[in-house]
Amino acid sequence: MEKITSLAKRRGFVFQSSEIYGGQSGAWDYGPLGIELKNRIAGAWWKEMTQLHDNIVGLDAAILMHPRTWEASGHVENFTDPLVDCKKCKSRFRADMIPEENLSAKKCPDCGGELTDTRKFNLMFKSNIGPAEDTASIIYLRPETAQGIYVNYKNIIQSNRMKIPFGIAQIGKAFRNEIVTKNFIFRTCEFEQMEMQYFVKPGTDEAEFNEWKKQRWAYYEKLGVKMDHLRWHQHGSDELAHYAKDAYDIQYLFPMGWRELEGVHNRTDYDLGRHSEYSGKDMQYIDQDNNNERYTPYIIETSAGLTRNVLMILCDAYDEEKVADKGDADDWRTVLRFHPNLAPITVAVLPLMKKDGLAEMAQDIRKELQEDYATDYDQAGAIGRRYRRQDEAGTPFCVTVDYQSKEDGTVTLRFRDSMEQIRVPKAELAARLRQEIKNYKRIK
Ligand code: ATP
Repeated sequence: MEKITSLAKRRGFVFQSSEIYGGQSGAWDYGPLGIELKNRIAGAWWKEMTQLHDNIVGLDAAILMHPRTWEASGHVENFTDPLVDCKKCKSRFRADMIPEENLSAKKCPDCGGELTDTRKFNLMFKSNIGPAEDTASIIYLRPETAQGIYVNYKNIIQSNRMKIPFGIAQIGKAFRNEIVTKNFIFRTCEFEQMEMQYFVKPGTDEAEFNEWKKQRWAYYEKLGVKMDHLRWHQHGSDELAHYAKDAYDIQYLFPMGWRELEGVHNRTDYDLGRHSEYSGKDMQYIDQDNNNERYTPYIIETSAGLTRNVLMILCDAYDEEKVADKGDADDWRTVLRFHPNLAPITVAVLPLMKKDGLAEMAQDIRKELQEDYATDYDQAGAIGRRYRRQDEAGTPFCVTVDYQSKEDGTVTLRFRDSMEQIRVPKAELAARLRQEIKNYKRIK
């Protein structure tokens, strides 16, 4: 993880928030390469969930919601972590994350000092809206995006004539006052989620749940993720949320071990039932194709962390490879093997030399490619070094313009993964890249 964190900083993927003031824990800033990567991951998910499904539409709900929302959802009462403090070293722990023997002996796992009793700590960030700081003005930063979908479900049925089964997809920020925020961007106080809520007829929920499990697994396969680094984890009765009928997590083998990446949950009719109760509005679905049958839909949720997916993709792509045997540091390269659809830069254009018109020719090629691809241009330093820089940024293709290019109009196309180089006529470059991206298969 240290290597990934340091590469992420060095190459401008992720910076610590407010670093010049010593950093703000639980918050991170996405630099030039990081925002491109994050946007592409979000784009791939959005395409998968909306464009490729006839019956799923998008939503962008506000972060600030009526506080009754969070009473109805159960967050005010139940969204808590058990917390213990060490009286000696002042460290704070989630009681469910320290060894049982420490908890029962009330002994700090760090310094051996005495631990306090366990108390409940609500993870929602609370603030006040308007000038008065009283209970009537309390407002929460949303701890999940899902509730914004539930409260809009009737609006979407009416405005878009949706019929069950249908889904609503949303990507957005969520906030949790997490007690432990180590492991880089894995668990943060400010993060982004990609959630899809699928509304189904009760009785069909188990089949739909299994179908969504299949689809979410296939999605990661399509992204080129190492499939032996993914596994399912079914929630046991002690983990299952009070409203859930069944729940599975997709876990990824992060450097610190197997951890949750995404959850697929059968949330039953709990959420709509509660919103109906708390708002006084009827949340039932009226099935006009079936004698106006009324029922409260069940909800199958797929809930993934976007920022956690960024970390997963960084870990999954990271590789160190021996490329020569000269006995020095240059023998090794660090390479991020991103799928070309996710890579922050798709193609880098590099003139072999700055002089003799090569730079101008390279810049013209870049301009042409820019319309369709995320490009970079680099003319500084030895060509081998420049390839290494692009490998480290995860750029799948480099185009090099050399003296032969001036003579016969061909350029070198270099592949990141194999480091193979071929000559391609300049005029065929854009089409060739399209084909390479479409047929991409990860080789290592
Ligand atoms: P945990 O048990 O690890 O706290 P959770 O089960 O509460 O997580 P969910 O509420 O199911 O998580 O959230 C759905 C997804 O949102 C998670 O799978 C994860 O990818 C992401 N997520 C949740 N909390 C955080 C966080 N603090 N930082 C980054 N991503 C998060």
